[in-house]
This record gives sequence, structure tokens and C-alpha cells, in this order.
Amino acid sequence: MNALLNFPLATNSPRILRRLREILGGAAITPEEKLNAIVKIIANEMAVDVCSIYILRAGVVLELFATYGLNPQAIHQTRLKFGQGIVGDVAQNFRPLVLSDVQSYQNFHFVEGIGEENLHSFAGVPISRGGNVLGVLAIQSYVKRLYFNEEVEILQTIAMILAEIIASGEIISKNEILPSEGVESLSIHLKGISLNPGLVIGQAVSHHPGVMIKRLISDDVGEERKRFNKAVRRMQASLKNLIGESMLIALGEEKSILEAYQMFAQDYGWLKSIRKSIDTGLSAEAAVQQFQANLRQELRKSPDSYFKERLLDFEDLTNRLLHHLVGDKEYGHLEGRQGIVVIARNLGPAELLEYEKYNVQGLILEEGLDTAHVSIIARALNIPVVSRVSRISLRVEPGDQVIVDGDKGQVILNPNDEDVVAFEKNIQTRRRRFQIIEKNLNMSSVTKDGQRISLHLNVGLQGDLKYISYDAIDGIGLYRTEIPFMMAETYPDVATQTRIYGDILAAAKDKPVYFRTLDIGGDKILPYLREPEDENPMMGWRAIRIGLDRPILLRQQLRALIKAASGKNLNVMFPMIADIKELIEARKILDLELKNAEKNNFLLPASLHVGVMLEVPSLVWRLDHLLSEVDFISLGSNDLFQFFYAADRNNHHLINHFDPLMLSFVELLQYIIKRVKRSNKSITVCGEMASQPIEALALLALGFRSLSVTSSSMPAIQKMIQDIELKKVSHFVQNLIKIKREDFRNNLISYAIDHNISI
Ligand code: PEP
Ligand code: MG
Repeated sequence: MNALLNFPLATNSPRILRRLREILGGAAITPEEKLNAIVKIIANEMAVDVCSIYILRAGVVLELFATYGLNPQAIHQTRLKFGQGIVGDVAQNFRPLVLSDVQSYQNFHFVEGIGEENLHSFAGVPISRGGNVLGVLAIQSYVKRLYFNEEVEILQTIAMILAEIIASGEIISKNEILPSEGVESLSIHLKGISLNPGLVIGQAVSHHPGVMIKRLISDDVGEERKRFNKAVRRMQASLKNLIGESMLIALGEEKSILEAYQMFAQDYGWLKSIRKSIDTGLSAEAAVQQFQANLRQELRKSPDSYFKERLLDFEDLTNRLLHHLVGDKEYGHLEGRQGIVVIARNLGPAELLEYEKYNVQGLILEEGLDTAHVSIIARALNIPVVSRVSRISLRVEPGDQVIVDGDKGQVILNPNDEDVVAFEKNIQTRRRRFQIIEKNLNMSSVTKDGQRISLHLNVGLQGDLKYISYDAIDGIGLYRTEIPFMMAETYPDVATQTRIYGDILAAAKDKPVYFRTLDIGGDKILPYLREPEDENPMMGWRAIRIGLDRPILLRQQLRALIKAASGKNLNVMFPMIADIKELIEARKILDLELKNAEKNNFLLPASLHVGVMLEVPSLVWRLDHLLSEVDFISLGSNDLFQFFYAADRNNHHLINHFDPLMLSFVELLQYIIKRVKRSNKSITVCGEMASQPIEALALLALGFRSLSVTSSSMPAIQKMIQDIELKKVSHFVQNLIKIKREDFRNNLISYAIDHNISI
């Protein structure tokens, strides 16, 4: 870890920083005057003959923007290619350079008329942000001397401040920094997988709320140290709790990793390093951020994977420290921003809803699967999502521009002009395509051979209701009642719930709405409701299990549903039923509420249908009994699949292991549909399978005739239905099952391609 502890430290620069602060926060001056003042302060305070700032233009040219000591006529006239001369060398190699005599350096490039004939010593540091070089800050002297480490460190600290000024666009626009046409691009294209289609451009926001640093320079070093020490103590205490709890379950290697992590948190080396930066006059958060920037530089250079892992631990620790420094106003810095793209390792559904308040446009994840609830919410919000983008959170800086291409499963960081032009063209094409699709949408959900498929919407948010009035849509097949709960600040009382459910019924007009009672727990956390920490939350205290243990919650919800459906049809289903006795218990609570409503002379619902989510495999073995107890079934393929294969739907490591079109799952679905068809009860598939054209095709071929679909997938599902001859595809699928074709998916895809079915 020594390399870490030896990070450069500025030792004594508070005076320079104080003077810089006066300039930056003082009377309104032009950006040019600002740069001139900065170079003058540096030259005077560091007692050097020359100080210059070069800024990268168009990704290839380093242009002299300000100088103290060189010929002022050379400003904006002197331009060096990236990599040319000593300044170009600093930019290209992305590291400081210190020389006692420039003229004997191999890369020395003499520039006519600039006035550096007799200058010998040189120190230059890159001005960088988020791994991109924005320019070079250099000092020079007539005497031959080697500048001290401390002097270079002061330059690095100031370069960080300059990077913020340049990135803010006040000196030159960001587009001017980026490469122009015909020049090698500085934009970064990264591949991932799409979890929701769509195309957006926006400003990156790291999901470490608080890392957007507003104050770079401190007012009082002593106070700043106190703030920092307090934040460190709080971080260490919270980590101790966190690790203490995990230690109870950790074993072997896991345990030693946690121990090492705890040791790092206590390690004085890196904390000392940050404290020294604070002593130079940086604000505590800027000092932590500077440490992070150095860390990322090390990370990029190191080939050693063990070292990289440890550096990532430090990245995590420093993020925690930033949290403690900026306090609890975690999302405050997003107020008033236009179009943000959230970048996260992973994200809970409630956290995404939190960002929804700040007009989130797109989401980029390092981990995350399409059946995870965060993806479901993103679809409901119509936010494009690209997942499994390796180390994106380390590559991006808050405020960077980013394109999220959910159609191609690709991300572009700091797009150049060419990327932006292509983006705009794609947006137009997309819009036209959707206009055509949407025009067709209302036409029909009838197959080529005349079979009508009943299509419903999965709804949780207002945006999901988009197509509800279309003739081809039969109603709301799944209303996830927990979503409005997740958006609320406090637990919604009966009156609030009644209003919410009433609004949904009103929006659906006379079409049926299938209300699912609260499915909280798992990855759906209500911030205001304390739940015990489950080791396996997906299989833990969740959904109906909470409802039966805390009947007051279930009773209030059922009361609100009964009130909202007064005089109308009410369909209620219970989630995560694993045994019929749970359904019977839940049904008793529903009857109790109905009785109370009757006693209080409320107008009862005109009709009542009660069903369950079929999503726990144990219930499949009680199907006949179940069918005699319910009016309908809703098949939750997301959970049924994860419990069938014991494969956590949120775990991205499992993505290539299991597939809903594996023969065993297909056979399970076939078993279910055959059994249900023998009864006169209805079944609708509402899991994500129904929203994926190829999987929905398999469902129809197996015999399912009712699907409940995410609104963003509805056009694609309808198109697939309009393209098929159901009898033929059913025959084909039955045959695949009969001959036990393990490569079911590939066979079905080939069939769809051969028969011009849009999938
Ligand atoms: C399911 O499990 O398939 C389902 C629709 O419920 P949810 O995704 O909300 O768990
Ligand atoms: Mg479910």
C-alpha cells in the first residue's frame, strides 16, 4: 500500500489558496482577467519567473491562455500539439514533469517569439478532470534548479481548481475542449447491456450523493480540520457497526477482506495525506476529492489486480467520507438541474424514485438485471437503462456529459460533435419509428389466424397508463400498489390510499384493474418503515408475509380498496402466496373489512374477484386446490423463475446461467397452463416474460391467452402478435418440448426469423 501513502502532498500553500479565493470569489472579473490574476499570484508567491496556463482545444492543441513572464503577445498565438514539446509531453503522459534545464531535454521544442530563450528550469502538471486532460499549468525560472516536491504539489492543488473552472465552461465551451471533426475522438464509448430502450443525453450524477463539491477552498484551516476529523470519526463508527454486523456471518476469505477493510478505515497514512491537503487551504471535501483523483490515476496505471481491489476499497471509503462531510442533504445538489443521468454500481428501486424527483433522464449501472425492481421502475418511468458497464463509476466525473443509448446497450462519455450529431439523427429516426408503431398500436391484438390475445398493462406510476384508453388494451393486469408507497415521504393513510386507488380506477374507466396488495420487503424498501435486516430479503419477510404478521397494514389497504371501488368492480390479488392457508387467512381479513364496510353503510363494490400471484413454486403443487379457492391467477414469472432455479433475480453473476426459456421452466409453465385450462378460471402472465417478444411468443404457443405488459414494451408485443399464426407456432413449440430440445430459445428465435415475426 506504500504507493498510496506516498501520494503527493502540498505542504504550505494556504496563502496562495487564500489569495486565489479572493480572486475567485471577489469582484466580477472576466474569465481572462481571472486567469491572468491566477498566474501572477502563483509566480509571485512561488518566487518563479514565469507561470503559464495552456488549455487543450479540440482535443489536440494546447493553447497558451495566460502567462506571467512570457511575451503577452504569445497568448492565444502559441499552440502546441498534444505531445509536442515539454508542455505537450506533460499532457500526453498525464503526469508532472520537473526539469532543471529544459534545453537539454529531448522533447524540447523552441517556440519563436514567446520569450523563453534564457529560461532553464521547468515544472508542469496536467490540469485534468475525470481522467481527461484539460490543459497544463507550468512554472519556469531563469536559474537552473530542480523544483521541490512541495512546489509541484502546490501546482497540482491549483491545477485541480483550474480544472473545475475550465470544466464549468466559463473559459471556453466544453465543445471547444473536445476534439473537432477529423481528429481522433476523446469521447469514450462503452458497451453494456440494455435493460430499457431509449436514447438520452444528460449530465452525469454519481450515485454517491454529495460528491458534487461546491466549496474548494476553506475559510479557516483549523475549522476545516475539525470538520474533517468529525467526519472521519463518524465514518469509522458507522463502518464499525456495518462491519460488526457482517462479521457475524462472514467466513474465511470474506472475513479477512472485512478485517482488511476495517484496517484501511483506521489507517493513518491516507487520512494524514488528506489532512495535509487541508492544511494547504483546500476544503475538506476538495482534499478528499483530490485524494480520490490521485487514487484513480494509480488505479489506471496499476496492472496488479490485488492492488486495484484495495484501491477500490479506498474509493469506497473516500465516498463514505464525502457523505459524512456533506451531511444528510443527499440529493440537494440536484435541485434545478436539467436532465441528469444517474451512474451507480447498483441502485434500489426506491433510490431511483428519489432521483425521479430531480428529472432523471437515464441510468447507467455496473450491475443490474432486467427483472430487478429497479429495471421495472425504470421502465415505468420510461428511463433508458444500460447495465453492466464495467467500472463506469470510476471513469465518470459528476457533471460530465453522457449519452445513454438503451437501444444499443451503449454509453458515450463526453461525446464529441460527431457523437452528438449521430445522437440527434438517431433521436429523429426513433421518433418517426415510434409514431408509426403507435399508430398501429390501437389496431388489434389479433394473430394472423384470428386469435385475439387479451393484453393488459402493468402499472405502478402515472406514465404506465399511457395506452389504457386504447381498444386493444383490456385493462390493468397488475397494479403494483407498493410503488406509490415507495414514493411517499410517510406511510399513506387510508384516505390517501383511497384517493390513489380511486384515481387508477377512474383512469381505467370501465376496464378491470387487478390490484396487488403491498409487495414490500425484498428489494422494495419503504424508507419510513423499519424492517428487520433479512439475510435473504427476497426470500424473507416480504409481501403477504408482512401483511399477515402486521394485519393492520393489510386491513387498511383493503379498506381503502373497498372504499375506492364503491359501486365498481374490485379485483384483489395477494403476492408471494406460498401455501393455501396464507390465501385463506388473507381472504378472512378481506371479508372482515367487507363486513365492516357493510356495517358502516358504505356502498360496497359492485363485484369482487379474489386471486393470487402464482410466483412461489410450492403453490404449483397445490394448483388444483388453489383453483377452487380463487377467481383468477396472475403468474409472476420474475419471482417464479428466481425461486424455481434458486437464482436471485438481482444477481448479475447469474445472467448466463439461467434463462426463462430453459426447458425445465417451459415445462413448468406448460404444466400450469394445462391445469388452469381445465378449470374455468383465468390466468394472466404479468412477469417480465410477457414483455419480451420472444418469451411472450413462447407463452402464447404454450397456451396462455392473457398477458400483462410494461407500457414501453406494448408496441413490440402487439407487433409480434399481429405477425404470428398461433396454431403453427404452437405446434412447433409443442414439438420442441416433445423432443426435449434444450436449446429452446435458439430454435424459437430461428422460427421467428424464418416466419418474419418481429421479436
Ligand atoms: C413477478 O414476480 O413476476 C411480478 C410480476 O412481481 P414483481 O416483479 O413485482 O415481484
Ligand atoms: Mg413478484
